[in-house]
Amino acid sequence: MPELPEVETIKNQLKAKIKSKTIKKIEVKLSKIVKDTSVVFFKKKVIGSKIKNIERRAKLLIIHLNNGYSLVVHLKLSGQLIYYPKLEQKKEKYTHLIYYFSDNSCLCYNDLRQFGYVKLIKTIDLEKFFQQKDLGPEPLAKNFTFKKFKELLSKRPNSKIKPLLMNQSFIAGIGNIYAQEACWGAQILPFRLVKSLKEKETEKLYHYLIKILKLAIKNKGTTAADAHYVDVQGRAGNYKSKLKVYQRQNKRCFRCQQKIKRIKLGGRGTCYCPGCQK
Ligand SMILES: [Zn+2]
Repeated sequence: MPELPEVETIKNQLKAKIKSKTIKKIEVKLSKIVKDTSVVFFKKKVIGSKIKNIERRAKLLIIHLNNGYSLVVHLKLSGQLIYYPKLEQKKEKYTHLIYYFSDNSCLCYNDLRQFGYVKLIKTIDLEKFFQQKDLGPEPLAKNFTFKKFKELLSKRPNSKIKPLLMNQSFIAGIGNIYAQEACWGAQILPFRLVKSLKEKETEKLYHYLIKILKLAIKNKGTTAADAHYVDVQGRAGNYKSKLKVYQRQNKRCFRCQQKIKRIKLGGRGTCYCPGCQK
């Protein structure tokens, strides 16, 4: 699933590609992708509107229109947004929704697994929508300080650290890739209980979490072996070459040369190094 760095990459690129453009036509090939409203209503509100801005909250994209409505897009497991500068370019087999702009460019929503969605929401109702989602703080926000991280952890002493990092109501945007990478960076075993972490370890974890997320954004995210993530130009993310543990089971640890192990933790495949993660 695309995590914070992948969705942030898409947001940044969409800003450059579609901001200020007018949507002149929409083609909906699979109506269930449009969530909670009829396709007719969706088209009625969206066609003719102009893209005002694009934001990200957790793993969700928010496309603000200039008519008091916003589109909330969740890519879930395999959603992709691909931009084409010209209309006539070939579409993918799994293209379910196409936004056509007045300059003849278009944006395709592809989704092999079909779990993703787009939701039309009045912009003034967005705050309520996100409140109901019970999302934790944004880890890259200025006010997400070490003090704040420590404070949040102190409320969950009996949680295992890696599943907790992935819990969206604890911190928003972190998933299976970056939770594993942060634990390796901080040399912490992913199944450690929060209350067992020493101050130094917590500090290291905070440091790596932020560092890894920033570096992953810089590298336009991760396209792992089984993932469908691509950026808006259809390109894979470059962070894959920088992964230290994710999907590296049975390979040698870059730090201590021991073999990376894979276990199930909270139902999710989790890799770690038994040599240098304590
Ligand atoms: Zn190691």
